[in-house]
Order: sequence, then structure tokens, then C-alpha cells
Amino acid sequence: MQNRSIEPYLNCSFECGCGRTHKSLFAHYIFEQGAIEKLPALLSQLGYTKPYLISDTHTYAIAGIVAEEVLHTAGIHFTSHVLKSPENGDLAADEHALGSVAMANDKDADIIISIGTGTINDLGRYFSYITGKPFMLIATAPSMDGLVSGVAPLIFHNMKITFPAQEPLALICDPEIMAKAPLKMLAAGAADILGKYNCLLDWKLSHIINDEYYCDTIAGIMRTAVDQTMESTKGLASHDSKAVSVLTEALVLSGIAMDFSGNSRPASGAEHHQSHYWEMQFLFDGIPAVLHGTKVGIGTVLMLELYNTLAEMEKPDFAKIRAEISQRLSMEDWEKEMHRCYRDGAEGIIELEKKSKKNNPDGLLKRLAVIEEKWDEIRSLAQTAPKASEIYHVLEQMGAAKIPADVGIPRQYVYDSIRYGKELRDRYTILQLMWDIGRLDENAGKLVDKYCAEK
Ligand SMILES: [Zn+2]
Ligand SMILES: [Zn+2]
Repeated sequence: MQNRSIEPYLNCSFECGCGRTHKSLFAHYIFEQGAIEKLPALLSQLGYTKPYLISDTHTYAIAGIVAEEVLHTAGIHFTSHVLKSPENGDLAADEHALGSVAMANDKDADIIISIGTGTINDLGRYFSYITGKPFMLIATAPSMDGLVSGVAPLIFHNMKITFPAQEPLALICDPEIMAKAPLKMLAAGAADILGKYNCLLDWKLSHIINDEYYCDTIAGIMRTAVDQTMESTKGLASHDSKAVSVLTEALVLSGIAMDFSGNSRPASGAEHHQSHYWEMQFLFDGIPAVLHGTKVGIGTVLMLELYNTLAEMEKPDFAKIRAEISQRLSMEDWEKEMHRCYRDGAEGIIELEKKSKKNNPDGLLKRLAVIEEKWDEIRSLAQTAPKASEIYHVLEQMGAAKIPADVGIPRQYVYDSIRYGKELRDRYTILQLMWDIGRLDENAGKLVDKYCAEK
């Protein structure tokens, strides 16, 4: 069964109105009951004979055993590596797990197949990229939007870094397996998509202020994915297969949009920076990880609050903002703050700032001139943002986490992530805009007062 929304983008290449050629290597989307049984036929159609299967304890039980059985029955030789899932939390996609994947590798394998969705997918995609072998994914849960992405977020030296990765040739999903995924995984997938409301605003914002590349076609694909997901959220709580199918499709579309843009811009904005920041703090503290999409959902509520604030804001006194630039945090004090917040990862953040110079007064003055000139356009954009309370209620209906305390993120981490989450990437978002106009600290205070009342 090929899906109508996805079909036009399979294995495609087209000249777009944005002036670029958009390409997708992703060619086979099999979403049907018993989909894994199609694996041997698909491999022989593509000419592969020796797959290397990667799974973890959980995903092996859900789908790995079946995959091995069908390959065995079809007489296809394979190597299978099952990574041990930790007792608490989930396996991290880090240098240790990658080492394990590399050490169990069969050098004669001609295709890498990941069986899983989060960590196992990231590891397989990256391993496939560094070994130059094609990649395929058997998904077990619609829990994040990296199903067909060409990048892999991996943890290296306690830092979350986005590496280039091999886009899958094929995605195999059995709706029965996907729908049986725990509700927290379904809700995480939906929340990862709801975050796109914020990503799309951030992208457009940067286009207005920095003239950053922007594509209406890609933004449109992403908008379709979000709108479809909004409609399906009610069905997820009852594991409704139609809702799960819509969500899976949205996650796939999101991956295709990232492929087309060549980076994660259409799918990752300030809400993802919040999520990454909290994830790093949990890593430093040795606390078991929380699902990516769950954190993105919480971050989305916070970042949409900033857009809602911007939508109501009077035009600031730009002369006053300029006059007060010299009173901002000195580079020396900023570096101290980076060491406090980013701990072992601080050097990487400081290096990034040296290259990107996003906090440099010259760049700030240039942006302020544009922001002043285009204030009405910027405010109008903010007025198109959904209300934070609306997304909050959707998360609530799904039984998902809505505020930081729901997953144990302390108030201080939230205050810091709002003020310094923007330092993680050279990517213009609502956080940088609020900093540019000198309103970030004040709004960080308001947000933690509203969403992080100590219990
Ligand atoms: Zn385009
Ligand atoms: Zn995401």
C-alpha cells in the first residue's frame, strides 16, 4: 500500500520554485499488515543478499525475531546484532553503542537494516553512512520524525551532535506493531510533529530577518504533516490504527522535508533546542533519558508562549535597545555561564559562538535594523502561531507530558534552557529574536513562573 501523500516524493528529483532541486533517495514505503514478510522479496528486487540486522532487546522481541524468521525461511544469509537495552530508560545512541554495532559487523554485508525507531535507527543510519552501505529501516513505533532522515543525532563526549547519515532506501512498517507501541511513544511521535508549528515560525522568522533560504513547498509539506497529526491525536489514546497510520505518514513527511532542505531546518527550531538542552543535563546528571518527542512537546508549549507574547507586543524602543547593548553580558561572563550550563560541553559551545558570532554586537546591530524596519511583518507572523494553551490541551488529551515537572526537569534547567538553549546551534529562532530585542531574560522569568511552579 503506497500512501497518496507520500507517493509523489518517493525516489524523486524535481526543480522547485525556490530555485533548488529537491531529491529523495527514499523509494519504498511499505505500510501494511505483515509488512516484514515482504522483506526477502524487497531485498531480492533491490539486489541485496547479505543484510546486517541491528536491533535492541525490545525491538528484537517486537520485530527482530520475525525478520530473522522470514530471512531464514527465504534462505537469505544474514548477521544479526541485538544491543542490550538498559534496565532503566533507553539505550543511548552514543560512541559505546556505535562501537558495539561496529564490532559485531559483518564486513561482507551488503545492506544495513535497523529494526527499531529511535536509537537503533540513528545508529544504523550513521553506521551505514560511514561504511558506505545502503540502509533500510523496519520501524517498531511512530515515536520520532527521523524515520527517513539523512542526519543522525548522536551523543559524543556527552554532547548531542547531528551527524550526516544514510537515508533509508525503504521503510517497512506493520501497522499492527506500530499501533501496539506504548501510548507514551505514540504521544512522543505526535508531540515531535506538533513542534513543527514552532519550527516553521522560526524558519520564516529567520527568512524575514536574515534572508535565510526558505522554501514554500517544503514548508507546505510540513504544514500538511502537522495539520494531519492535529486531527489524529484523539485516536492515539485508544491506539486507533487509522490515527497511527496518519501519524506515521506525518513522521515520514517530516523526514522527506528535511531531506529536501538538506538539513533539519524545517523540522527543528527552538523547541528542539530546549529538548536537546534538557537531554544534555540528564546525561551529565546520569538520569535516564526521556523520549525525544516528549521533551519537544514541552518545549513547544514554552516556545509558542514566546510567539504569543510577541504577537501582543508593542513596537519596542529600538534606540533604547541600541543604547543598552554595552550593558549586556560581557563575553567573559557569558563564557562563565556556558561553563556553568554546558559543563563538559562548554568548549564546543564557545567554539561555535566564535564561528557563528550570533551574539556579536555588529551582527546584533544589523539585525536590529531589519527587525525595526520589519516589525509589523514579524508581529503578523507571530499572530499566526497557535496558542500555547491549545497545544497544551492536545498534549493533555493524549496523556502526554505538558510541563517540565511531568518528566522531572527542574525549574533551573528550564530557566537556563530558555536563556541559553540558543547557544547550542547557529540557528535563528524566537529565542535569538527575544535576545536581540533585550527581552529574553524577562520572558524566561515569566515562563518559569507560569510553567515551573515548584511543587
Ligand atoms: Zn523548494
Ligand atoms: Zn524531533
